[in-house]
Amino acid sequence: MTIFQKVINKEIPADIVFEDDLCLAFRDINPQAPIHILIIPRSPVASTQEVDLDDARTIGHIFSIIPKIASTEGIDKTGYRVVTNCRSDGGQEVAHLHFHLLGGRKLNWPPG
Ligand code: 5GP
Repeated sequence: MTIFQKVINKEIPADIVFEDDLCLAFRDINPQAPIHILIIPRSPVASTQEVDLDDARTIGHIFSIIPKIASTEGIDKTGYRVVTNCRSDGGQEVAHLHFHLLGGRKLNWPPG
């Protein structure tokens, strides 16, 4: 079981900023920006490489929630980045699909 599944199951604590029947958003334990929130589906999709059409509603829903969280966090005007890492070269550490919402500072491009 992944650490994020344990967060979903409430087996380990997390600073949850939003949750509903499809997804959960919580603060990253090791923030890379002043605002660093992880948004995950409740369904156990491992990475973007495992996404199929059945996940479209959930992922679309997540992307409708992201701007709401950005507004609540006060980064909607200044902007932000949404990132998902896939497998080892992508830098993915937790094999449960998640989107990083990063903001609150100027973010560099290209990423490392
Ligand atoms: P990845 O590298 O897989 O794209 O991102 C995983 C993220 O999960 C990392 O940014 C890491 O800091 C975060 N993380 C790992 N374990 C925990 C945890 O137990 N709680 C929280 N809130 N974040 C975690």
